[in-house]
Amino acid sequence: MQHVVVAECRDGKLRRVSLEAIAAARQCMADGDTLAVLLLAGGAEDAAEATHLACRGPDEVIVIDHPILARYTPEAFAAALLAAAEALPMAPSAWWLGHTAIGRDLAPRLAARLGAGQVSDAIGVATGADGRVRFTRALHAGKALEQRALLPGDPWVVTVRPNNFPPAAERAGPAAPIRSAAFNPPPPIVRVRDVVRRVSTAVDLTEARVIVAGGRGVKHADGFAPLAKLASLLGGAVGASRGACDAGYCDYALQIGQTGKTVTPDLYIACGISGAVQHLAGMSRSRVIVAINKDPDAPIFSVADYGIVGDLFEIVPLLINELISTP
Ligand SMILES: Cc1cc2nc3c(=O)[nH]c(=O)nc-3n(C[C@H](O)[C@H](O)[C@H](O)COP(=O)(O)OP(=O)(O)OC[C@H]3O[C@@H](n4cnc5c(N)ncnc54)[C@H](O)[C@@H]3O)c2cc1C
Repeated sequence: MQHVVVAECRDGKLRRVSLEAIAAARQCMADGDTLAVLLLAGGAEDAAEATHLACRGPDEVIVIDHPILARYTPEAFAAALLAAAEALPMAPSAWWLGHTAIGRDLAPRLAARLGAGQVSDAIGVATGADGRVRFTRALHAGKALEQRALLPGDPWVVTVRPNNFPPAAERAGPAAPIRSAAFNPPPPIVRVRDVVRRVSTAVDLTEARVIVAGGRGVKHADGFAPLAKLASLLGGAVGASRGACDAGYCDYALQIGQTGKTVTPDLYIACGISGAVQHLAGMSRSRVIVAINKDPDAPIFSVADYGIVGDLFEIVPLLINELISTP
């Protein structure tokens, strides 16, 4: 069976979720299965990332490098993937993508083109004794888990949630071969003129290992400044509740929850967030949750591993000082 991981670059850097998708694919590969990574590159910087992929365990890396792929358009990306797949010795049966903005858009399009089944936002994968691959997904705002089983041999397309699989590690030994595939882009239906970033952060929220999130308790836009400082010291990103976004303290691009982003960082620090069920839906699977809230009865404490009852404007500076003074 041929597995294919679709690797994604952003600003010339390989996205971590692509390495996680390789690890997820490896988890359910049987003897004799092969794994190819398809890298769609919009220039030399993206294409150079193929070397990082080649030493993470695929059997080969196929690069399609074309200027049209510098910005995402559904038609061009889908056509490029199908062109790359034709360069494989065997038609792929299993496609793996990150559950990113691009992956979410591309996967159903690909599945429809291939007549394949599709599973979105997998947080776990395993092969049962019967040889069937089972994907775990979170349902009903994370309150329930479902398993979807697929028959081996039937084609499928799956997206994996960032930060849920350990990224494929570098392997000793020779790297996989890297080759290029030809691509004639279809006539464009969509032309992207410009990409306007509403929030520019060094760390992508959905892939961040540490998130410092603020709620209505930050009181005003400037209240996010200490949170941003703490996040930066921890190498993380800033997030927010909808309460904070609705109040105009920050951009909706930072919203975490049922109608915002779903995140699974190693550490989630919730500052002045009550812990409404819609917020928990987007962050309750974080590995360690720290809550800072003035109200000891705030529901956020029911999911927190560590709780600090107090004023965030006193606690967060203390944490910052501690981090700065620790060598
Ligand atoms: C259909 C639907 C979808 C929704 N989707 C989302 C979603 O995706 N994400 C989301 O977050 N919400 C969502 N909501 C809104 C959600 O129900 C809550 O209203 C929202 O999460 C509340 O935000 P908050 O916790 O910041 O504010 P509040 O509930 O007002 O909580 C503020 C907290 O800050 C604490 N506090 C105040 N001052 C301080 C201080 N100085 N120090 C420490 N603590 C302090 C208070 O004790 C309080 O607990 C949705 C709601 C609906 C109906």
